[in-house]
Amino acid sequence: MSVITVAGAGTGGLVAAMKLASQGHDVTVYERLSEQDCGYEQKDAFDATAMEYAGIEIPDDFIAPGNDITFYPLDENIEPITTPSPENYKNITVDRKVLFRYLCSLAKDAGAKFVFETEITAPIILGSRICGIKTSAGDIYSDLVIDACGMNSPLRKNMPEFTAIDRETETHDYLHAYRAVFDRTPDVTEFGERYKIYINSDTGFTWIITEEDCVDVLIVDFNEIPFSMVADRLHKISLRNPQMGKNMIKNGKFMSIPIRQPLAVLVADGYAAVGDSAYMTYAAKGSGIAYSIKAGTMLANTVSLDDQGLFEAETLWDYQKTFYKEIGFDACRIALVKNLLPYMTADEINEIFKLRLVTSEELEKLINGDYQKSKLPGMIMDKIKLIGDLPEFRSQLLMLAGWFGKFAVIEPFLPGKYSREDADKWRDRYNKFFESVGSSSDSLAQAVEKAEEKKEKKDKKAAQKAEKAEQKAEQKAEKAEQKAEKSDAKDKKKKKNQENQDTETAE
Ligand SMILES: Cc1cc2nc3c(=O)[nH]c(=O)nc-3n(C[C@H](O)[C@H](O)[C@H](O)COP(=O)(O)OP(=O)(O)OC[C@H]3O[C@@H](n4cnc5c(N)ncnc54)[C@H](O)[C@@H]3O)c2cc1C
Repeated sequence: MSVITVAGAGTGGLVAAMKLASQGHDVTVYERLSEQDCGYEQKDAFDATAMEYAGIEIPDDFIAPGNDITFYPLDENIEPITTPSPENYKNITVDRKVLFRYLCSLAKDAGAKFVFETEITAPIILGSRICGIKTSAGDIYSDLVIDACGMNSPLRKNMPEFTAIDRETETHDYLHAYRAVFDRTPDVTEFGERYKIYINSDTGFTWIITEEDCVDVLIVDFNEIPFSMVADRLHKISLRNPQMGKNMIKNGKFMSIPIRQPLAVLVADGYAAVGDSAYMTYAAKGSGIAYSIKAGTMLANTVSLDDQGLFEAETLWDYQKTFYKEIGFDACRIALVKNLLPYMTADEINEIFKLRLVTSEELEKLINGDYQKSKLPGMIMDKIKLIGDLPEFRSQLLMLAGWFGKFAVIEPFLPGKYSREDADKWRDRYNKFFESVGSSSDSLAQAVEKAEEKKEKKDKKAAQKAEKAEQKAEQKAEKAEQKAEKSDAKDKKKKKNQENQDTETAE
């Protein structure tokens, strides 16, 4: 039996705690919040197969109808696209406080202990090993520390360099979000689809989910969201959704959602990261519950194979390999797509919808990670052929196809066995690749900006030319009118003279 610390009562941590306690280990979960405050004040959806994967019974009231999403482009004249949930898809939609209480009670039943209202500040490092956590209640020593402290984990941020665990993140590695739940306007029953996502004019989107008794709104952006923007987006979305009432009944909070590729290295001697602390989210939309539940299970399986209970990076490496094979590499591809999103213009997004460049079936597969990775570059090349007058967008897609190609070369370099040197090399290769993606996105952004400036100049010149031509045509028409008037007057004079002459001759 080993002494195991789970740092943070996040989803993955709770699952790992339950599984490890039932293996007979002495498990304690340390959490900074009080038990009542744990979990979010919101309902979230995730794929029920994660619970089946973990062997966790699913309460009947967790199961909800499919989570069809309808995407609305900025241009209201363009038809939206609905992604149906896949056939046989089992969706869970659950209040996050209820989910927390459920997983917490399972972990307690399995024998895990909980210490709430205890702030974790850093790992305890002895030699090359993580052997505990520093907390507001003192130092806690253990054989293994499981980091489930979420995206701002103080453990990950204080890991020594030799562990190859990355500490910091970049600007577009997370989404800024504002979430609030409103009441329903009485008597409004016609409101279209239940779950709509509106693409905003700049980066980001706003979703609105209409439930029986409330309306759940989430505003997200790659850039910080000032309150004026929240007010503006809430106003706009309420105009298009009369079912949204005026009273906020829950939440109303700013949050961050990690949306980057998973950490290159997840384990060190005596340490393993699960969930958001290791960026195990679906990078395009930040859903991480299912990944965390699966990762917690994978970690517990790896731990169960460590007979000596040494929990060195070498033995924990199996967890790293399983995670990457089953989830991580696919999550990386989604992270590549995400890298294009902040740089797409409203015109391009409108065009995607107008040309039906992505079909609802393709969107569904992408959202659910159910696609054949080897076919992705070919698929993108086919789409490029459909693009009309959007050269920058064509280069963006070409770049994406290139990234997929390059990533396929990186993937096999994940070491089969752990050594500090190999883990280091893997981390460097993996991070360099994503850094190059980031910088090519930046240069792409500059190129897009330049192309936009060029287009603006071209449009301005064309407008000036058209104005000149119009002026010229007006002048010509005026001259012709004057000429016609003159000839008319001349004709009249001639006619009068003739009449006078005729009268004179008659006299
Ligand atoms: C607005 C929003 C909407 C989302 N919607 C969805 C969705 O629809 N579907 C989905 O699958 N996912 C969704 N997610 C993501 C999902 O919440 C996470 O990916 C998932 O919960 C896994 O996170 P985690 O358990 O690793 O970390 P967290 O949920 O962040 O939990 C970390 C825990 O550690 C504790 N902690 C942190 N720091 C310390 C410290 N210093 N000391 C002690 N304790 C600490 C925290 O209090 C918390 O209890 C959403 C996230 C947000 C913010």
